[in-house]
Amino acid sequence: MRTFEFIRPKDPAEAVAIAAQAETAQQGANIRFLAGGTTLLDLMKLNVETPVRIIDINRLPLDTIEATPEGGLKIGATARNSDLAHHAKVRRDYPVLSQAILSGASTQLRNMATTAGNLLQRTRCAYFRDTAMPCNKRDPGTGCSAITGSNRTLAILGASEHCIATNPSDMCVAMAALEAIIHVQGSNGMRAVPIGEFHLLPGETPHRETVLEPGDLVTHVTLPPPPFAGATATKQVYLKLRDRASYEFALASAAVLIAIEDGNVTGARVALGGVGTKPWRSPEAEASLIGQAAIQVNFRKAAEMALRDAKPQSENAFKIELAKRCLTHALNMAVAA
Ligand SMILES: Cc1cc2nc3c(=O)[nH]c(=O)nc-3n(C[C@H](O)[C@H](O)[C@H](O)COP(=O)(O)OP(=O)(O)OC[C@H]3O[C@@H](n4cnc5c(N)ncnc54)[C@H](O)[C@@H]3O)c2cc1C
Ligand code: SF4
Repeated sequence: MRTFEFIRPKDPAEAVAIAAQAETAQQGANIRFLAGGTTLLDLMKLNVETPVRIIDINRLPLDTIEATPEGGLKIGATARNSDLAHHAKVRRDYPVLSQAILSGASTQLRNMATTAGNLLQRTRCAYFRDTAMPCNKRDPGTGCSAITGSNRTLAILGASEHCIATNPSDMCVAMAALEAIIHVQGSNGMRAVPIGEFHLLPGETPHRETVLEPGDLVTHVTLPPPPFAGATATKQVYLKLRDRASYEFALASAAVLIAIEDGNVTGARVALGGVGTKPWRSPEAEASLIGQAAIQVNFRKAAEMALRDAKPQSENAFKIELAKRCLTHALNMAVAA
């Protein structure tokens, strides 16, 4: 790891002003915010990230979790993943978020990891973390080693000829289904970004992963009130399939929220993890569920819709069927819950 200057700003405004001097907020940033450090420090040890200034945001007043007057939830950027997953309102109103967070990493990591850090965690593509290998995301224009290499765990949705890396977050999949809003303090003030617009597809610029610009500090995330108010039965489930039962990233996961009246689906939210280059909401699957009987055959049709644009790489065609079964089973679990 190289040397760096360590800075403790007195307030968010100072943190933003210092970070605004960075050349980029994307890969290769020379100034970085430090939250839990569970992504950033790993990448610094590997020389994948080489910031010369680190801004420690842990002492800023950004760690509260509180109900909003509208009945939603405001989650501070440095709220720890453990605190969020175990928060009484999250367990009661947003169980899909609690389940998603608790399915990730380990207790120790979740005790350190923060909300904003989780939103901004980096891909686990092995070539991205190996500076001896070409990687367009780490070093633009060098090529993508994964396309002709080991790609079993990588994306089948949203990939480009320049990058096929999967977004690894579990929390973000639940937040996509919950329509979270990311609040950002930048040089020009505050702005709110829907989670569906926060992460970028790789396209020709895989090193650009989010809409963040130099200086942008995520201050908090808000969740609207739980959807489908008034429905007799609303169920939420996060199901994660992986190579081992714990401490492993998803090969495929599904966050589902479903409202059922008289045996028919009246509301549906569907998002997939482990298969997309960003947390993958599926409006197609949601539309196919509405008005249909809440039964297996219709859940499988929704899964077919969710994966209809999937494009496998040389080693991961199995993920298409895996993701379909994951979503179908998650919907079955929701009905049975
Ligand atoms: C062994 C291991 C297993 C894991 N398994 C899983 C898993 O199964 N599922 C899963 O979802 N995740 C998993 N993770 C990832 C883990 O969830 C993330 O490392 C963690 O959420 C990152 O949060 P952090 O606070 O530590 O971020 P940091 O490492 O501190 O920061 C990450 C990035 O976010 C930026 N950043 C942080 N806060 C802000 C802010 N407020 N505004 C702007 N930028 C900010 C930092 O500059 C940095 O670029 C695993 C990690 C490890 C090490
Ligand atoms: S998939 Fe993306 S992150 Fe992995 S080697 Fe290719 S460009 Fe790099």
